[in-house]
Amino acid sequence: MFDVQSIRKDFPILTQKVNNHDLIYFDNAATTQKPQVVIDAIVDAYTKTNSNIHRGIHTLSQISTTLYEQARQMVQTFINAPHDYEIIFTKGVTESLNLVAQTFGEAFLHEGDEVIVSAMEHHSNLVPWQIVCERKGAILKFIPFNHDGVLDVEAYKNLFSEKTKFVSVVHVSNTLGTVNPIKELIDIAHSHNVPIMIDGAQSVQHFPIDVQALDCDFFAFSGHKIYAPTGTGVLWGKEKWLEKLPPYQGGGDMIKTVTLEKTIYNTLPFKFEAGTTNYVGAHALGVALKYLMNIGLENIQQYEKELMQYATEKLSAIPQVSIIGNAPHKAGAISFEVAGAHCSDIGMILDKQGIAIRTGTHCTEPIMQFYGVPGTARLSFAMYNTKEEIDYFAKVLSTIALMFE
Ligand code: PMP
Repeated sequence: MFDVQSIRKDFPILTQKVNNHDLIYFDNAATTQKPQVVIDAIVDAYTKTNSNIHRGIHTLSQISTTLYEQARQMVQTFINAPHDYEIIFTKGVTESLNLVAQTFGEAFLHEGDEVIVSAMEHHSNLVPWQIVCERKGAILKFIPFNHDGVLDVEAYKNLFSEKTKFVSVVHVSNTLGTVNPIKELIDIAHSHNVPIMIDGAQSVQHFPIDVQALDCDFFAFSGHKIYAPTGTGVLWGKEKWLEKLPPYQGGGDMIKTVTLEKTIYNTLPFKFEAGTTNYVGAHALGVALKYLMNIGLENIQQYEKELMQYATEKLSAIPQVSIIGNAPHKAGAISFEVAGAHCSDIGMILDKQGIAIRTGTHCTEPIMQFYGVPGTARLSFAMYNTKEEIDYFAKVLSTIALMFE
């Protein structure tokens, strides 16, 4: 049974007042709040077990190493990866995406080659590919989307050529909320023998992920958007690809042996984890994932679906509001505009009532250019949000909308 009130009790920040109002936190696509178990895991680690991993024979180092490696196994279970050594800890999805763009680009992209991304990518799955394509003389192609915010799969099929070397696509758009048909996109890429990476920054926290069922080649996400600390992230990749990619950064831990002339690189996953990682954060990420698995991702998905439907109905009932992105399958986020108002004004006035939403371009400027808007206001949900919060928000927004008529 999914009990939102009991879940809310796990998140101490939610009991705060902001601007003398009960906090209503609708900015979860930017970052989620942390449950007490995650906060405790961090405090406990620094209070009792802190010691650098992998290098020490002393007790604390061994405990620390065990916690870190257990977290890796937790991630493996969470996304159903075949092997724990295919899980690379990074500082976030941005680093995961850059890691693949840089190393794949270095090894496999040549002049005239082509890479496909969608036109709805977050900047962190667009700019790294722009950088590497420019460096290599490769061409970046874009899967278009329609006015509802739905990717054009037929156009995607036509983007492939003999020169296509890689596809990288966002699973759920942080701006439009669109859930992309990634299984179909993956199968199409593979029918051309092209590897594909999925940016799961806005999907892992909302529904179950099974990388083996998806059969993607890489899957990336950030810890802080899934109730875990900032500065943590994951890159999962198929062993066959991770083995082929060159190291991303050089330094400690990613080496097996070093002479002044030559280095033999470490095995997976350490080859991609140079230097002291955020091992306390990774441990806390493991704790967050365990906490979520206890609640059940299917339960979260079902509950959040109701929230999304409810909020969409409430917003649609306000005449001055228009929703941007009306894909039939959405998760997590709803972007909207209020007639006559700049989105920042909406965000500022809501904040005075204790309601936190995000306004602006959401690091997706090409989406703003497509719709011809300077920015949007965005509601984004987590499992601790409630229909009562949506009711209050809708009431306040209706009043604000009248002010701009
Ligand atoms: N991709 C998507 C779809 C996102 O929503 C975000 C964060 N808004 C990112 C990538 C980048 O995440 P981070 O800043 O945690 O690296």
